[in-house]
Amino acid sequence: MADYQLFIDGEYCDAASGQTFTTSDPATNEAIGEVAKADKADAARAVEAARRAFDEGPWPKMSGAERAAKLRKVAELIGTKSEKLAEMEARDGGGTVKKATFADIPGAQSAFEWFARCAEDQPDEVELPGSPFPPSQNWVNYEPHGVCTGIIPWNFPFIMAAWKIAPALAAGNTSVIKPASFTSITALMLGEVFQEADIPPGVVNVIAGPGGTAGEELASHPMVDKTAFTGSTEVGRRIMQLASGTVKAVTLELGGKSANIVLDDADLDIAAAAVLFGTFFHNGQVCESGTRALVHRSIYDEFLSLLVDRAGKMVIGNPLDFNADLGPLVSRGQAETVERYVALGRDEVGEPICGGSRPDGLAEGLAAENFYRPTIFAGVDNSAKIAQEEIFGPVLCVIPFDSDEEAVAIANDSIYGLGGGVQSGSLERARKVAAGMRTGTVWINDYHLISPERPFGGYKQSGIGRELGVEGYNAYRQVKHVHANPGGGRDNYMHFSALSANI
Ligand code: NAD
Repeated sequence: MADYQLFIDGEYCDAASGQTFTTSDPATNEAIGEVAKADKADAARAVEAARRAFDEGPWPKMSGAERAAKLRKVAELIGTKSEKLAEMEARDGGGTVKKATFADIPGAQSAFEWFARCAEDQPDEVELPGSPFPPSQNWVNYEPHGVCTGIIPWNFPFIMAAWKIAPALAAGNTSVIKPASFTSITALMLGEVFQEADIPPGVVNVIAGPGGTAGEELASHPMVDKTAFTGSTEVGRRIMQLASGTVKAVTLELGGKSANIVLDDADLDIAAAAVLFGTFFHNGQVCESGTRALVHRSIYDEFLSLLVDRAGKMVIGNPLDFNADLGPLVSRGQAETVERYVALGRDEVGEPICGGSRPDGLAEGLAAENFYRPTIFAGVDNSAKIAQEEIFGPVLCVIPFDSDEEAVAIANDSIYGLGGGVQSGSLERARKVAAGMRTGTVWINDYHLISPERPFGGYKQSGIGRELGVEGYNAYRQVKHVHANPGGGRDNYMHFSALSANI
């Protein structure tokens, strides 16, 4: 029996093949447990359970208020398990326990609470006054899609699972979720929460396993109505292809290379904090990270010295230590990707002004090969590969500019458009700059603040659709327009006028 089993049709179970894979803690390389490894057949079994629960079960027929009560229970139960969940989130993915405690676990709870509110407050029937075809009446019904699958990445496994499950369930859908193989544990632990909250069997299913088999089945199975994917742009393209077979609704939240613009009237102390937090939070393994800092030339040198001074003060260490700012990257492979990009940066730009290597002096027992120091390249041309490609590691490119217009042009010179920042002493000026940025979120004098109550998603190759907010709730609802003629003889039926009188 696996230590962490699949959660299908309300029960924990092994993969049909009996196969497992080992998941380990990247801070120490220590094995944490054996996880059941779903393949295509297990994914199909989970989809079939979700289909039955949607077609025959009580969930879609319950009122919004009844579903909301269940989702609030889920949020409450997550709270009772928060310490264990935070520890496993940190150990499985290498993020700090501080991040898990203050961002991931409460963030997931607030997603269930927000979508509970949506289930209660957003009407599922709206009258449309002023019929274009009098005397008919018209209204729209908002209805669940049916079976919704969610495929999620390794950087925020618990919160991403909540972002996919909570809106789907709130709107009356059923759900199958697949976390990434590096970080499956906390999503699988959610099964217990759903059992305790008395969510009917099959309404939520969580499977762990490879993207190429289990993931592809979730994106292509004909019984699936909608698929929501968060991950790399490359895999997002594949998901679109797979979903096109039965024309499923698709939401994609993909990669980014966001620009954080520091204007010459910014409070440099606060702007430096926004740039450092915007880039190095969770080692830059965040899709909306502001990994291109565009800095006005008149403050450029002063700002660079602030960045270098403070980047050097970040505490790199054991992620289970509450004082650690940065733990390891998610895997040795990811640390090697960072190393390759830093080597490329040395060729393209020259020596980084800080970082550029593994940290020295880590505590005994920590796997130094999985860690990397915050690294800053200055004087970068926006056309450099390190400024165009998503590195997903602690690497910042600093790019000078001379005017607001030039900053906006540089920010927009990217295939991505997910996040971005403007640091300025003038809200009016910052608003103008933000208006010019082709990106899904802009933080003015801040960074990374995401709430389930506000929409989140990307322009261009950063994705399709929005998660969170009312927009994210409606992404899980179909729209049905009903045109109703009250009757009362042939003269009341508009369509007769377009046909011969005797039809
Ligand atoms: P990834 O694309 O490699 O994998 C994401 C998920 O897709 C995993 O569960 C994986 O198993 C699965 N998968 C892989 N191949 C698949 C296939 N052929 N069919 C179906 N599923 C498949 O991404 P990752 O490395 O886990 O995460 C990092 C990426 O995620 C970065 O590009 C980052 O920007 C992006 N991301 C985006 C957001 C956002 O909201 N826009 C949030 C977090 C991460």
